[in-house]
Amino acid sequence: MSNNKNDVTMDKIVSLCKRRGFIFSGSEIYGGLANAWDYGPYGVELKNNIKQRWWRKFVLEREDMVGLDAAIIMNPETWKASGHLDNFSDPLVECKKCNSRFRSDELLRRAHLGKVQILPLDHELQRELLIKEKITCPICNSVSWSEPRQFNLMFKTFIGPAEKSSNIAYLRPETAQGIFVNFKNVMDTSRPKLPFGIGQIGKAFRNEITPGNFVFRTREFEQMEIEYFIAPPKKDKDWQAAFEMWRQEIINWMKELGLDVKHDIYELNVPDGERAHYSKKTIDFEYKFPFGQKELYGLVYRTDYDLKQHAEFSGADLSYTDDKGNKFTPHVIEPSLGVERTLLAALCAAYNEENLTQPHPSPGQGKIETRVVMKFPPWLAPVKIAVFPLLKNKPELVKKAKAVFDLLKKDYACEFDDNGNIGKRYRRQDEIGTPYCLTVDFDSLKNGDLTVRDRDTMKQERVKIEKLGEWFRGKLK
Ligand code: ATP
Repeated sequence: MSNNKNDVTMDKIVSLCKRRGFIFSGSEIYGGLANAWDYGPYGVELKNNIKQRWWRKFVLEREDMVGLDAAIIMNPETWKASGHLDNFSDPLVECKKCNSRFRSDELLRRAHLGKVQILPLDHELQRELLIKEKITCPICNSVSWSEPRQFNLMFKTFIGPAEKSSNIAYLRPETAQGIFVNFKNVMDTSRPKLPFGIGQIGKAFRNEITPGNFVFRTREFEQMEIEYFIAPPKKDKDWQAAFEMWRQEIINWMKELGLDVKHDIYELNVPDGERAHYSKKTIDFEYKFPFGQKELYGLVYRTDYDLKQHAEFSGADLSYTDDKGNKFTPHVIEPSLGVERTLLAALCAAYNEENLTQPHPSPGQGKIETRVVMKFPPWLAPVKIAVFPLLKNKPELVKKAKAVFDLLKKDYACEFDDNGNIGKRYRRQDEIGTPYCLTVDFDSLKNGDLTVRDRDTMKQERVKIEKLGEWFRGKLK
């Protein structure tokens, strides 16, 4: 058996996702919609597993966290106060030959200029650099760039039937602001003590200039965000301790996902001048995707910027009073995780191709077959256990296998499959990453046991049906 991790390409991931019902092109029957994706039966399970695990780990299992679910369309004043109306923009540059549009900072970064120096924010300087370094248009290869202009990424809409400026509203570009505007509500009702955090999972929308790379950059996506409030730091080490705690938590989370943190994760300390307007320190956790090393998650020290801005714009008192009666505005550390990028990284990390030699009477003569297997950690796998009757046309086998399926489905995501030969059924389950396959055969009818086949080792063992609950509790819970 051989296995080569370097064989993972985006073509293989995209094709597997479509073939096995993880991810489809959005609105496909109408010719699709560029960069919109729909999650199929296994994709939605994967996404739900990610979100549920995150919620359990970071909200339910921690004493210093509570949850929230705020509205997507917020009072537009929110975006004035947060600075998004003025600052949430990317530099858009147009190729004068073919009129294609790109982010100039991305073009420069792609040419590795971002790694060796801080990108100039000045538009004329960015254009000069594009021309001086002969950075070509990815579409038509010419070097003919317009001056970049700032393009605001927020999606605009109108509330109510009249499309007039006083009715303009925005789809939220991040979930974080829903947390800040509810700070007082949570304080008044839950009365948490500092340090504490509020976690939220929800959709965010950005009118990205260059979406792409499958689900990596889309205009509609989900975030899992935490705003972790701390007392105003007297020294740098005070906020650094909370920052470091969340850095470790993110690393642990990535390990739980099955990512090779040592080799595939790079922590980029975002330099001054490139950080968001509210950030004093930002770490981008970059993952080695097949299309290059790109941001997976962000960890940001947002200071007291957001609460102070909202207090000023709304007139609400967003302060905290400690046990000694000191009143102040808390500072905040924000671990921000995208659901789709999590899913994409987990798919890339789990993808394995193994060359198996088929048994043959003469040594070395067996045919070589490639097995595609998604080695998801069991908690993440969309199906945990597949149950097969050995033969479809033997009612007593089907009945027994159904009984096993009914027994296990209450505790685990299970699938019943009686289609095709057992080898084909194994391959199907390998491709969706099912950790265990159970086969009911004629011996099962006599002995009350069945074959359990392990996805990763492909080893098979006999287990008594009455002992299955206990057996899986040790492996899957
Ligand atoms: P990028 O530099 O890739 O545009 P960002 O720094 O703007 O990302 P943040 O504002 O820090 O991203 O958002 C937090 C997280 O939300 C990101 O780390 C990522 O996981 C996710 N995310 C952001 N934008 C998108 C998008 N367009 N599509 C999918 N996920 C996204």
